[in-house]
Amino acid sequence: MANLRNIPGIDEMLEQEEIKKLLSIYNRDFVLDKLRQAVDEKRQELLKSTEDREKQQLIYEVVEKLDNLIKLATTGTLQRVINGTGVVLHTNLGRAPLCTTAIKYMEEIAYNYNNLEMNMEAGLRGSRYHHVEDLLIELTGAQAALVVNNNAAAVMLGLSTLAKDKEVIVSRGQLIEIGGAFRIPDVMKQSGARLIEVGTTNKTYISDYENAISDETALLFSAHTSNYKIVGFSEEVSIEAMSSLGRAKGIPVLLDLGSGILTDLGNWGLRDEPTVQKSVESGADVITFSGDKLLGGPQAGIIIGKKEYIEAMKKNQLTRALRVDKLTIAALEGTLLEYLGGNPSESIPIIKMLTRSKEELAEKADNLYQVLSEEFMAHEKINKIQVVKTEDMVGGGAYPSYRIPGYGVEISYKNQLLEKVAKKMRLTNPALVCRRQEEKMLISVRTLLPGDERLIITVMKKALQ
Ligand SMILES: *Cc1c(COP(=O)(O)O)cnc(C)c1O
Repeated sequence: MANLRNIPGIDEMLEQEEIKKLLSIYNRDFVLDKLRQAVDEKRQELLKSTEDREKQQLIYEVVEKLDNLIKLATTGTLQRVINGTGVVLHTNLGRAPLCTTAIKYMEEIAYNYNNLEMNMEAGLRGSRYHHVEDLLIELTGAQAALVVNNNAAAVMLGLSTLAKDKEVIVSRGQLIEIGGAFRIPDVMKQSGARLIEVGTTNKTYISDYENAISDETALLFSAHTSNYKIVGFSEEVSIEAMSSLGRAKGIPVLLDLGSGILTDLGNWGLRDEPTVQKSVESGADVITFSGDKLLGGPQAGIIIGKKEYIEAMKKNQLTRALRVDKLTIAALEGTLLEYLGGNPSESIPIIKMLTRSKEELAEKADNLYQVLSEEFMAHEKINKIQVVKTEDMVGGGAYPSYRIPGYGVEISYKNQLLEKVAKKMRLTNPALVCRRQEEKMLISVRTLLPGDERLIITVMKKALQ
């Protein structure tokens, strides 16, 4: 216990240059609090050891501890993650990374005052909903548009506005659950609409809708079954057929599109998802979709459709609770401007990821392989590093059965170290999340962003220590 004698006191520590530097960055109470904690932890450590320590050495160790404690306490819990999974819209990893235009626009609006709710021509109060509306109308061909917090909110608002205390007809094949506890029947209940189920899980005909229509029917509802697919003996009613039935009976049709894609990705093999424009042409009266799925923008719920219905939604009290903030509006406008005048397959990150050619991906995988093998091939914990073919996914509930051929780098570890290394990779900052395939680690290159390759080296070095 003799070594406790050399432990530095708080006043003594405060004289150290390193700590003076910390005091110029952080407030005094904060630094003192962490310093006491660092000295205390050091004391506990010394109590357990018999080794004698020099005062200078102990000062150095307390400074090191303090640095770590401060670093921990000044980092938020939300942090950068390198997506090596090959799942482009990974809901757990924040879905779509934004395009540069959106980020720059957001920054400008965040730094400054802005015209969020001011009509500059009249010099009077304006509406925040006015901002993205014209862009959405131009891009989709709809009559009107409204943006709320997310697509779940959009569906809720649509149901509450058009069908509260009334009946909504839905096919049994579309009573879906989306990740995060969004279940169509439960959303119906919440909105105050009464669900009328028709058809069966695998087959629903237009006559099923027709026979279910009564004086109480306010809406025909269709949900794009984006996260699962019924194959084989199945039949779904087209939006065209539902819309003409709706028109004949004077009942609107609401389509929950889920993903909402604006560019046709048919040339890249992604064919089953109807574009938003096509869905507007099919005659649905109201269409809702997410801002951060295949659109590649910020989290938002986009509602487009006939003017009378959108106007009614704007007046619903619920809209105030579901409203978007200025940063979302800026990010969404920035993204939509890229669709209008830019080149989305280059500038929108997720569209770029989905439209990369096989050759491009093979080359990227080869580059990653080169840097990784140069650094780690001879490492004692690593068995083998090699380029492999991968099966990537769209994610976000879109194209559930679809695997996009891609490339990646596979790493196998010695002594069943895979799980340990993968965990360490998840706990560094930035973290690396990748797939596991037959006891090997698989880093798919499709979802890597510029600069990620270099960071992977740093993360791996830390994880292999
Ligand atoms: C993803 C999805 C939702 C929920 O959208 P969020 O923007 O995540 O709230 C609702 N309906 C469908 C069909 C979806 O695919």
